[in-house]
Amino acid sequence: MTERLAVSAETAGSGPHDFIAGLPKAELHVHHIGSASPRIVSELAARHPDSRVPVDPEALAGYFTFTDFAHFIDVYLSVVDLIRTPEDVRLLTYEVARELARQQVRYAELTITPFSSTRRGIDARAFMEAIEDARKAAESEFGTVLRWCFDIPGEAGLEAAEETTRLATDDRLRPEGLVSFGLGGPEIGVPRPQFKPYFDRAIAAGLHSVPHAGETTGPGTVWDALVDLRAERIGHGTGAARDPELLAHLAERRIALEVCPTSNIATRAVTRLDEHPIREFARAGVLVTVNSDDPPMFGTDLNTEYAIAARLLDLDEEGLAALAKNAVEASFLDAPGKTRLAAEIDAYTASWLSSRPLR
Ligand SMILES: [Zn+2]
Repeated sequence: MTERLAVSAETAGSGPHDFIAGLPKAELHVHHIGSASPRIVSELAARHPDSRVPVDPEALAGYFTFTDFAHFIDVYLSVVDLIRTPEDVRLLTYEVARELARQQVRYAELTITPFSSTRRGIDARAFMEAIEDARKAAESEFGTVLRWCFDIPGEAGLEAAEETTRLATDDRLRPEGLVSFGLGGPEIGVPRPQFKPYFDRAIAAGLHSVPHAGETTGPGTVWDALVDLRAERIGHGTGAARDPELLAHLAERRIALEVCPTSNIATRAVTRLDEHPIREFARAGVLVTVNSDDPPMFGTDLNTEYAIAARLLDLDEEGLAALAKNAVEASFLDAPGKTRLAAEIDAYTASWLSSRPLR
């Protein structure tokens, strides 16, 4: 049974929100545990009553209101604490895929922090089996292809880096869906260059490098990610806007930025949406992708982020389709997969435009 919603150009409405709702998309920057909807978090909190996370969905909404980035990390880690068994892992992964499919996401690279689970005592092999089982079920039932990015939680230091690298590169553990290696958590006080040896090992094992950088710090962190961690895409990169030379470098090398507008407001990395540097990125010719980061925690979803980007960048339907195709280009899908998804975006857009009265 497929639960993919069949929103066609003929049956959907005519506004940009309706166009976006049906637009086939790729999501490149979304966190596994950070995608837990209030319904899932509530279910997990009820399963683990010793947690400090509220069970009541209304109380949860208040709990997810952040004062600053440090507070966000604190709340996030309390949700991490709810994932204690392989069954918790499987449930979360499968439900996240259902939510992506609802938004017409055909392909998603989900950032997973396996260290958070193995540190809690979940067996590494059982963890890998849980995510792979959910991935295969999601692909056959929802039609959404999932791939994994294993990321180092920067706040947990080099022990976490070592364990994440081991889980990502050990042939007996490494899951089939793993394509990339990342680095998240706070940037202030957590210099990127110290993670170089771990990224070197992951890259040598065939993984792509996709660290967060310049989310809450300046362009120097993005340069570190490019030079030391050999980043192929940058998570956020907000601070890059302050360095024209860096923007030119990103544009020339087609190194995409994974922009997550609402997240940047929620964590106070950017003060107001109208001040978001996405316009500077686009003007500089940088390959901009739009993503949702930790959507339920920030009260958003990928479709909402596309609507925000449409407003900030003044995009019509063709502009939105081009934005969706940027994510396809920047993804780690294989070449036939990229061609197929880009063609699906084009076909949807052409059908939408031809079914409307002339403007
Ligand atoms: Zn992120």
